[in-house]
Amino acid sequence: MVHVNVGSINSETMKALNLKIVFDYIRRHEPTSRRDIAEYGGLTVASVSKITGKLIEKGLVVETGEGQSVGGRKPAMLGINANCRYAVGIDLTAEYIKLVITNFKAQVIYELHSDTQLERGKEYVLHRLCTLILQSIEESGIDKEKLIGIGLVSAGPCDHEKGSMQSPPNFPGWDNVKIRDYIQENTGFPTFFDKDAVAAVMAEYWFGVASECSSVFACLINQSGFGGGLIANGQIFRGYNDGACEIGHTIIDVHGAKCACGNYGCLETLVNGSLIVKEVTDKLKLGNRSVLSQLDNYDKITLAAILQAVKNGDPLCRSVIDKTADYISAGIQNVATIYSPEIIVLSGNMLWNCDYLIQTVISKVQKRKGNKFIKSMTVVGGTFGENQCALGGVALVLENFYKEISIEE
Ligand SMILES: [Zn+2]
Repeated sequence: MVHVNVGSINSETMKALNLKIVFDYIRRHEPTSRRDIAEYGGLTVASVSKITGKLIEKGLVVETGEGQSVGGRKPAMLGINANCRYAVGIDLTAEYIKLVITNFKAQVIYELHSDTQLERGKEYVLHRLCTLILQSIEESGIDKEKLIGIGLVSAGPCDHEKGSMQSPPNFPGWDNVKIRDYIQENTGFPTFFDKDAVAAVMAEYWFGVASECSSVFACLINQSGFGGGLIANGQIFRGYNDGACEIGHTIIDVHGAKCACGNYGCLETLVNGSLIVKEVTDKLKLGNRSVLSQLDNYDKITLAAILQAVKNGDPLCRSVIDKTADYISAGIQNVATIYSPEIIVLSGNMLWNCDYLIQTVISKVQKRKGNKFIKSMTVVGGTFGENQCALGGVALVLENFYKEISIEE
């Protein structure tokens, strides 16, 4: 199913609606024939041909060859013209910047990973970010005229309309800084800004495992935070003031530890990299055996070392991860109970570095499916690893392009 935002297109002409249906169908189902599009959209082949003719004329769609005949002439197949446009996606975290440049089909043609250097101050970081963007565009060799925008995402809370963070705990001093406007003015390209967890879900909905779903929830589980993003009926669900889906701050244990948000016992206090390190360290100090027992100073153990030990099958480290998985799966059950999305995706740097955690969560979630209020709880690992949120930034750019497209010239 292709999902069109009927709410926002009521005032548009039927022509514009048909254009969106045709263009979006080609994007999601290429290679496809005019007849398939007509069938899907309830249109005549003649009107589809008129629209696809315009899209081909504009260079956005191309004929890709012949398809299978179902009696009569073989149909000409249509697809998106991969190199007709380009987009930049950036995941700005407190630790690192991940930048990708993709073609119109969201295929990565250039990528860059760099330290954020947050300690040098926001002016420095923003200035350097613009330099990195412009350098990357240059190095990628793309035609700048074809670059349709930059999608920048970062940890919340944020105000996507203002293009700024709102009292972000991981970016002290960045409250209300007009990040989007700064990037736009200093690079000269249209810029979009959103929360990283929104980007994580957008990437799956636009290019990943959820491209055929009308609803999907993405958990973004990083070492330092647990975010969520929801697409419902084909639209980002934001709630009031961009406040929706803060799954990390749902309360799991009313007697639990104090969270940075002010609550006690939030999911994020139970699922985080520091807690995993502390629990492993405590067990080692009590004399429990592990591959990490041989280290000199247990106070210097890193999450990376623990995740490596988990990968190598270390029982002690795995037992700590199992506990983390218990809390994540409880959080997932809460999401399934409240929103009932068709699919729930697990992403974030804690997960793409630890397949064992993903698999343990998936198997624990299976055991929770018997609950009579759970209609759907399909959980999968994210598609794009470290590029998940940066590709979500690309999706923001493409979403805007598809919204604005017109063939009436
Ligand atoms: Zn909290």
